[in-house]
Amino acid sequence: MKHGIRVGIVGGGWAGMATAVTLAEAGVAVTMYEAGKVLGGRARRVDTDTGTVDNGLHILLGAYSETLRLIDRFGAGPASYRRLPLTLEIGNRFRLRCPPWPAPLHLLAGLASARGLSWHDRLNAALFMAKMRRARYRTRTPCSVATLLEQASQTAVNREFLWHPLCVAALNTPAAEADAQVFLNVLRDGLDGPAGASDLVLPRVDLSALFPEPAARHVIARGGTIHTGRTALRIDAGAEGLRIVDTDDSAAFDAVVCAVDAPRLEPLVSGLPALRPAIEMVRALRFAPIASVYLQYPPQVRLPFPMLGLTDGPGQWVFDRGALCHQPGLLGAVTSSATDVDRTSPLALAEAIHTQLGSLLGPLPRFGWHRLITEKRATFVCAPGLRRPASRTPVAGLLLAGDYVESDYPATLEAAVRSGLACARSILESH
Ligand SMILES: Cc1cc2nc3c(=O)[nH]c(=O)nc-3n(C[C@H](O)[C@H](O)[C@H](O)COP(=O)(O)OP(=O)(O)OC[C@H]3O[C@@H](n4cnc5c(N)ncnc54)[C@H](O)[C@@H]3O)c2cc1C
Repeated sequence: MKHGIRVGIVGGGWAGMATAVTLAEAGVAVTMYEAGKVLGGRARRVDTDTGTVDNGLHILLGAYSETLRLIDRFGAGPASYRRLPLTLEIGNRFRLRCPPWPAPLHLLAGLASARGLSWHDRLNAALFMAKMRRARYRTRTPCSVATLLEQASQTAVNREFLWHPLCVAALNTPAAEADAQVFLNVLRDGLDGPAGASDLVLPRVDLSALFPEPAARHVIARGGTIHTGRTALRIDAGAEGLRIVDTDDSAAFDAVVCAVDAPRLEPLVSGLPALRPAIEMVRALRFAPIASVYLQYPPQVRLPFPMLGLTDGPGQWVFDRGALCHQPGLLGAVTSSATDVDRTSPLALAEAIHTQLGSLLGPLPRFGWHRLITEKRATFVCAPGLRRPASRTPVAGLLLAGDYVESDYPATLEAAVRSGLACARSILESH
C-alpha cells in the first residue's frame, strides 16, 4: 500500500479515471478535478429533456484489452456491453461477418462468405493482410493509408467497403490523410490478434455509467476525492513541489497527472518553461469533428443488426439504441470526420439520415424528436509522422495522460486508458 502519497489528477475523462482507480486500488488517496458536471469527458452521458444519450456513439474492439479489463473490474462489468464477432454491413452492398475463430482463419472465412466482393477482391484483401503480417505490420517510410493501399494494389471495392470505413472508424481521419503505421497497428491488434480481438464491443449502458462513474465510486470508497464542476486554472511547480490552483483553492501534491484534452493543456502548464516542447507538439495537432444524430422513432422500429454502415449520405454508421441500451425506437447515426456538418442545420441533417435509413430499411414512420451533438474537436487528425508528447515530463512528479499522448494507437478509449495506466504505474514505481 502506498498510503501518504498525495496525487492530484486534472481531468475526469477515461484517461484520468484509469489513473485514479488504479492508484486508489494501490492505496493512494487521489484528488481529482473535473471541469464538467458529468464524468467521462469525450465519452460521457448527456441528459436531455427528452432522455439520456451519449455525446458520441462509441464502439470498442475486443483488442481494447486494458479498457475492457477496467470496465470488467471497476466499471459496470461484462454485462454492460455486447460482444459480437466482427461484422461490417454497409448498406445493402457489402457484408463481412467473421466467425469467432482465431486469426487469420476468422478473416479468411469472413472474406470467403462476404457479400459484395468478387473472388478477385477477396484474394486481393487476403493477400494484403498476409503481406502486412510478413512485414510485421511496419511501413518502410511514413505514408498515408491511401498510399499504402495503392502500393499494395488494393481493389477499388476493397478500399471503398473494407479499408476506408475501417480507417475512418478507427482513426477518424480519411485514408488520404491517415497515418498508415497507426492504421496497421490497429489491423495488427484487431484483425490479427488473439481470438476475440476483432470482436465489436458495443456499450449497453451510457458511457459515464460504463466506467467513469463506477470507477469514481471505487475511488471515493478508498478515501479519494472527486470534484466535478471544478476547473483547474494552472499547475505550479515550485521549491515546495507541485500545486494545482483552481477557482476555489490551491493544493500541494507529490505528483500531478494532467489528464485534460490536448487543446486544454497549454493554459494549465504555460507557467512551466520545461513543458514548452510538449506544448509545441500539441499546437501542431489538428482536430476533426464527429457528429452524432439521434432520431426517436416509434418503439417497433429496429435495425436487423445493432450497428450498420450507411451509404450515400452524411451518416456513416447507425446504432440501434433499443437493441443495445433499452431505448426502443431510438436510432443514433454517426458522421466521423464530419467537416461539413457545421454548415447543415440539425433538422436538415436528421432528414438526410432519415432518407438514408429509409433506403436501407424500407419506408419508415416519421421520427418524433431528434438531437444533434457535434464534438468539434473529437479527435486529433492522425496524420503520417505526427509527433505526440511523452507522458513523462521534465518537471519532477508531473505526468501527462490522454489519448493524444505518445502511443501506438489513434485517439481512442484504449489510448486514453493505457496512458492513464502508464501514469499510475510510473507514480507507484517512484514512491
Ligand atoms: C463523438 C466521439 C466519438 C468517438 N468514438 C470513439 C469510438 O467509437 N471508439 C473509441 O475508442 N474512441 C472514440 N472516440 C474517442 C474517445 O472518446 C477519446 O479518445 C477519449 O474519450 C479521450 O479520453 P481522455 O481522457 O484522453 O480525454 P477527455 O475525454 O477529453 O477528458 C479530459 C477531461 O479533462 C477535463 N478538463 C479539461 N480541462 C480541465 C481543467 N482545466 N480542469 C478540470 N478538468 C478539465 C475535461 O472536461 C474532460 O472531462 C470518440 C470521441 C468522440 C468525441
